[in-house]
Amino acid sequence: MRRFALVLLLAAVVLSGCGPQAERGVLYQTSTINALLEGLYDGTVTLAELQRHGDFGIGTFDALDGELVLLDGVAYQVRADGKVYRPGPETTTPFASVTFFWPERVAVMDGALDLAEIEALLDQAAPAKNIPVAVRISGTFKTMKTRSVPRQSRPYPRLVDVTARQPVFELKDVRGTIVGFRLPEYVKGLNVTGWHLHFVTDDRTAGGHVLALETEKVRAEIAEVPALYVSLPQGGAFGRADISKDKTAEINRVEK
Ligand SMILES: [Zn+2]
Repeated sequence: MRRFALVLLLAAVVLSGCGPQAERGVLYQTSTINALLEGLYDGTVTLAELQRHGDFGIGTFDALDGELVLLDGVAYQVRADGKVYRPGPETTTPFASVTFFWPERVAVMDGALDLAEIEALLDQAAPAKNIPVAVRISGTFKTMKTRSVPRQSRPYPRLVDVTARQPVFELKDVRGTIVGFRLPEYVKGLNVTGWHLHFVTDDRTAGGHVLALETEKVRAEIAEVPALYVSLPQGGAFGRADISKDKTAEINRVEK
């Protein structure tokens, strides 16, 4: 039997963990999804720099070397072997999105829900569709299907050609946390629109970009992120890349 309870805390959660300098409600991203689709995989921002702008987020690594999960200020790298590594602060990323996570609403979701059902419930909990939201979902999952991407070498192939051969991992009965965002349609070209979720297990042994799941009992925390900060790489391939076209069809192949 499925049960769903939504608790609106509306910023009543005790806020902690961020220093006085922390930017609240800002989604910081480096580069753009269309640049990544074009094969711009060279890292341009260090994790140290990225973490000045957030303790929570998702992305990838220099040379497309796996999936980034930034959770509670700790960066995890889920590489193509399916294992989770702890990259150092000097490690760079070509594309990532982070924020300081201050949960505002909590939804407890009991019972078996698939990804589409979870996303629909999250949409109910965060109905302002034109405002970006960050979500953290923790608990037990009956199944969790993720993928990662293998490290690439130059000349870099386009992202659609990499993900056509992506390693996929099927986890069963795992405890862990999903980290992700829902971004509005109007950021098309800059970032992935709709829900974009990454996962890491509680024991930090597996994870990746979420493709499908079935929950057992999870708790979702949601925060609106009403400001966007896009940091663009200067002096390299980004300035010359052809990133003007609508690549929606490619994003759907790569991210869904
Ligand atoms: Zn992803």
